[in-house]
Amino acid sequence: MPPSDGFDLASEFGALKRLSAALGRDRRRTQAAGGNTSLKHNGILWVKASGTWLSEAEDKDIFVPVRIAPLLEALRSGDPRAEKATDFVAAELSGTTLRPSIETSVHAAIPQAVVLHIHCVETIALAVRTDGEARIRERLQAAGLTERFAHVPYCRPGVPLSREIARVAGPMIDVIVLENHGLVVAGESVAEAAERLEAVVAALATPPRDAPEDAQRGSGAEPGLAELSTLAEGTPYRLPADATAHRIARAPAARRVALAGPLYPDHVIFLGEAVGHVEASRAALGAFLAEAGASAPPLLLVDGLGVLVRDTVTASGEALVGCLADVAARIPEDAPLKPFTAAELHALTHWEAESYRQSLDRPPAVGSGAPGATP
Ligand SMILES: [Zn+2]
Repeated sequence: MPPSDGFDLASEFGALKRLSAALGRDRRRTQAAGGNTSLKHNGILWVKASGTWLSEAEDKDIFVPVRIAPLLEALRSGDPRAEKATDFVAAELSGTTLRPSIETSVHAAIPQAVVLHIHCVETIALAVRTDGEARIRERLQAAGLTERFAHVPYCRPGVPLSREIARVAGPMIDVIVLENHGLVVAGESVAEAAERLEAVVAALATPPRDAPEDAQRGSGAEPGLAELSTLAEGTPYRLPADATAHRIARAPAARRVALAGPLYPDHVIFLGEAVGHVEASRAALGAFLAEAGASAPPLLLVDGLGVLVRDTVTASGEALVGCLADVAARIPEDAPLKPFTAAELHALTHWEAESYRQSLDRPPAVGSGAPGATP
C-alpha cells in the first residue's frame, strides 16, 4: 500500500483499485490475469503484478512499485533487465514478493499518470482483422476520438511491444490500439482515463451476432448439451463452465474465427496454438483422440453441438474460451482475419515471462464459473 503524501495518491489509488476490479469482472473488458493498470507518482510506477487478476484488485495487494527512471533507461539502452523489471522494484515501499506485470515497460513508456491496458473484446474483434486499423480509425473518427490516437502493429508483449509504444507515446496520445492484442488508454487521473476508455469502447462496439439466442438457451435445458455431455464421457474432455461458449461451434461464422488460428496472445498462453474440430459422433471423436493422443487440444469444437474443454483447462483457460465466444460473435463471416504467423507463435511460447505467468495459474475450475468471468 503506497503512503499518502498530501497529493491525492491514496484517493487515486482507491479509485484505480475500484476501476481495475470492475474492468476485471467484466469479461468483455478483460479476462483472467490479462490486462493491467498502473498509476505513476514521484518517480514510482504502481503496476499490477504478473499473474494476478484485475478482478482481485480490491481484495488483495496486487500492485507492485517500480522505479520508472532506471526502467526507462534499461528500455532505451537494450538492457535485458527491462523485460522482467524485477531489478527495478522499489522493495522498501511494499512487502509483496510478486513480479511486476510482463507489460510493466509498456506502462513506463507512456508518460501519463494513469494507464489502463485491457483485452477488450470490442477492440480485439477489430484489431485481429487485416483491415483492422482502417476500421478502428473510421469508428474513432465518427466519435471524434482520432486526434489523440495511435495504432501499434503487432509485437510480442514485453520489451518489443514497449519499444513500439515508446515510439508513438507522448502527452498528446492517450488511446493506443495494439494490433492482435488489445487497448491502452491513458489519462492524468483515474476518472479521466476511465471516461476515455468507455468512450473508446463504445465507439468500437459491435453487437454480438447471436446473443439473443444464447440468452434463451441460458434460461433452461439446452438442446444438444445432454448429447455433448454423453459424447464427452470417458474422454479427457468436459463441458465448459460457461454455456455461452457453445456458440463458437454452432454458428459457422464463429467457427471460422476459432479455426483461423490464434489471434491474440492470451489465447495462445492459456488455450494453446490449435483448436480441435470434430463431427458430432462417438466414432469421429474416438478417431480424433486416437490420433491426437496426449497432445489433444485444450478446446474442441463439436460440429453444430457445442464445445468441450480438456480436463486440464484452468480458470484462466475457461475465461479465454468466453473471450473467444465474445470475439467470434462480433466478427462478420467475410471479415479478413490476421492469425499469428509461426514465428509470432514461437516468440510467444518461448518466453520465460509467460512461463512464470502460467505457473501462477490456478488449478482447473471444474464445474464452476471462472472468477471474473461474469458475462
Ligand atoms: Zn496485454
